[in-house]
Amino acid sequence: MNEHSSHSSDVVSRWRWNRPQHEISHEGFSANGLVVKKWVAQTNPATDVRWKVGVFAGIHGDEPAGVRAAHILHRWATTLPAELFGYELHLYPACNPSGLKEGTRTNQRGFDINREFWCGSNLPEVQYIETELRQEKYDIILSLHEDDTSHGLYGFVSGSMLSENILRPALLAASTYLPINTDPVIDGFAARDGMIQDGYHGVLSAPPEQRPRALEIVFETPRLAPLNHRAMASAVAVKTILKEYRQYQSHQENL
Ligand SMILES: [Zn+2]
Repeated sequence: MNEHSSHSSDVVSRWRWNRPQHEISHEGFSANGLVVKKWVAQTNPATDVRWKVGVFAGIHGDEPAGVRAAHILHRWATTLPAELFGYELHLYPACNPSGLKEGTRTNQRGFDINREFWCGSNLPEVQYIETELRQEKYDIILSLHEDDTSHGLYGFVSGSMLSENILRPALLAASTYLPINTDPVIDGFAARDGMIQDGYHGVLSAPPEQRPRALEIVFETPRLAPLNHRAMASAVAVKTILKEYRQYQSHQENL
């Protein structure tokens, strides 16, 4: 029996919340340092965990909807939803703390941190997240972004059929809140039904050496839409991706 069992149900005692914080101290940063938070929702015993998912928000400091979505997902996870069974959920609500503080796309030093991954960056927030990605070896990596030039929802997938088959229902579910951008070209990339199979170099992604590759999806909301709709659309998209991924895995096992 753990300490929770005495005052909560067995189901609740299966879960525990960790809130480790990683202090970032690096020259050029304030004496107080910057903090990249990490929230972990995991089942207990850990043998129930089949897939690890990392959700990364606030990578650009002028994109608050993903941060709010991470908080929504945090609250959702504490209600022990059946949708999370089998998952260990890691939320990084504010990957670019100095940019979020200033409301800027870049970090305090003027770097777009989403162009700095896996190319030897010495930015402490990038190094921390790279270390996390290497240690955790996520099965699913979801990044939440916003686009002020898009009139609707869209996403980047890492190129596999699996990613596209999972992003499509996520966009549909999120379209309860905001329309999908069905333009043939979005953000300079060829797109189909709001999905782009391409991307920028240096974005937050699995370590280059990771095998098997993670399912990677970048979800974008239109920044000119109301904040609450953007946040709800992002949160619903994440939940739908988890549901679809589990279904896909079960289907594979039954073949
Ligand atoms: Zn962004």
